[in-house]
Amino acid sequence: MEKLKLVSLKNIKIKDSFWDRYLRLVPEVEIPYQWDILNDNLEGVETSHCISNFKIAAGREEGEFYGAVFQDSDVAKWLEALSYVLMSKRDPEWEACADEVIDLIGEAQWADGYINTYYTIKEKGKRFTNLKEGHELYTAGHLMEAATAYYRATGKDKFLRIMIKFADLICTLFSDENNSRAYPGHQEIEIGLIKMYEATGNEKYLKQAKAFLERRGRIPDYFEEEKKNPAYRMIFPELEDYDRKYAQTHLPVRQQKTAEGHAVRAVYMYSAMADIAAFYKDADLLNVCRTLWENIVGKRMYITGSIGSSGLLERFTTDYDLPNNCNYSESCASVGLALFSRRMAQITGEARYMDIAELALYNTVLAGISMDGRSFFYVNPLEVWPENCLPRTSKEHVKPVRQKWFGVACCPPNIARTLASLGEYAVFQNGADVYWNLYLGTEVTLDLDGHRTVIRMETEFPAEGEVKLTVLSDKDYHGNLFLRIPHYVKRFDVSSCGRKTEYEGIKGYAKIPLDGERQELHISMDIEPRVIRSSPRVRENIGKAAVMRGPLVYCLEEQDNGKNLPGIYLDPGSLRECYREDILGGVTEIRASGLRAVETGWPEEDLYSEEKICWKRTELTFIPYAYWCNRTPGEMLVWVKELQKFQEGQNGKDQSMGVHN
Ligand SMILES: [Zn+2]
Repeated sequence: MEKLKLVSLKNIKIKDSFWDRYLRLVPEVEIPYQWDILNDNLEGVETSHCISNFKIAAGREEGEFYGAVFQDSDVAKWLEALSYVLMSKRDPEWEACADEVIDLIGEAQWADGYINTYYTIKEKGKRFTNLKEGHELYTAGHLMEAATAYYRATGKDKFLRIMIKFADLICTLFSDENNSRAYPGHQEIEIGLIKMYEATGNEKYLKQAKAFLERRGRIPDYFEEEKKNPAYRMIFPELEDYDRKYAQTHLPVRQQKTAEGHAVRAVYMYSAMADIAAFYKDADLLNVCRTLWENIVGKRMYITGSIGSSGLLERFTTDYDLPNNCNYSESCASVGLALFSRRMAQITGEARYMDIAELALYNTVLAGISMDGRSFFYVNPLEVWPENCLPRTSKEHVKPVRQKWFGVACCPPNIARTLASLGEYAVFQNGADVYWNLYLGTEVTLDLDGHRTVIRMETEFPAEGEVKLTVLSDKDYHGNLFLRIPHYVKRFDVSSCGRKTEYEGIKGYAKIPLDGERQELHISMDIEPRVIRSSPRVRENIGKAAVMRGPLVYCLEEQDNGKNLPGIYLDPGSLRECYREDILGGVTEIRASGLRAVETGWPEEDLYSEEKICWKRTELTFIPYAYWCNRTPGEMLVWVKELQKFQEGQNGKDQSMGVHN
């Protein structure tokens, strides 16, 4: 069980027609914008108070704590995103800024290593008395991820040393000897501790991460026990008496078979479980991860790579329950699904896991951020009727436009750190072998068993399916290139010097032997618009179709298609693509024909009638879901009703229209 290795972001240069517009946002917009927010320098944006909290905790300023218990994690994710940016390109000014924040974090640290501004300022004396809701271990995990990233980016170890002290404290307080039953309410410390192990080689961090995982689901429940402590104080009354599935403590993790509870917590936990399975060569635990991943992808995931069907408690519900207009589908949950899937791909060498990472990245993660980088979705519905997104209703959480910031601001910095680390998804390495996952314009420098190799990929993917790959190495190099064959292509041809290259397909990758000093390969895939249907078990989507092209899910927007999008029926045989340079920075639209219910002629006051609906022919324009709500806000729809002739026993092959105007 040898994990395929990530390539350092220092060695990956991305220059890509699809991604550049988003990737450049991180250094140019996200880092300065989010820095202003963390410092409360922007008007008309939700107060963050993050840096002020640290200044107060450090004794530099007087004042009150403001924000959520996990407010510190916004600073951590910002530092982590900045670290990834610095890996691509050092920047003395931002580095100086980060160093100042790190000094501040150091000053806010207690003598024994503890860091948390909420418990330092507001609830001194109550630290670690409410692991269920206190989020101290969650925040610590994000700080550890940031510290290890900053160390890798800059070589400076001050932040890492600060977090070693904190990690040591956690490993002491929560050792098997001192508190053998405790574990965090919101998982994340496990990922942080695993990264601390990777950065320092200190195995006790790995053991602690494993212990936190193995302790979940044991009886009696630790969260019930900690309530009996006189120091216990409830933080989120709305979470009182949640069922144990919410925090994945309903069963020991090794017995869990379905993805349950709060979606972000779940996928962060599964990511850590996958890592632990790999480090301890634990095949049983890996099988648990596989089962959970398959439950998500096979029964509980939206076509956009998002998860969390219930707006209430942001959680998984039951198999095939995938409502489109009141789901949660948090941006962070798709980030977590990509993290989990990537780890599974690294451990198993199976490309199908990267199909899902790609799906989450190209659709929900991108939809979470506007094209100008200044507003964000937290919730990612697949159907929006803006007038219907009312406060104090079941759609209260659904926002029809991206927000500048949030009181609970987990998603924006999470998207930033994911974009800044895109290279970690693109390529893996294993000895002399290279695994290529994402098709994007990039240049990667690798040390393949001592052979310095440069691989350059040039492509307009996903606008088209042609890819040019140049491999430059020394003449003694022999290895293999494993090219991911996306599950949605019917044709995946590789050629060299105009001659078709035969390849062996292994676990979803095309295995191409590499040797010689310079090799040029040409990959050709079919990237055609395709009509996708849900399993008939998904009640919401019966009779409906979605349009995809390559990894991109498409949607209808009011701007192109008028109001009342659910009144439209798509003719599935009519799809054609059309490149538009003039909108959305250049986009391949998909056009189609269909029918539309006509409202005029039907009296407004007649809610019900024996009248027949009048239909008229209509032309439809689909744009990528990732790009929705970047022009005039309005309705949006992914699953469109489909014109069809129903015949008993047919398996969806007959696409002739059964509805006529
Ligand atoms: Zn979030």
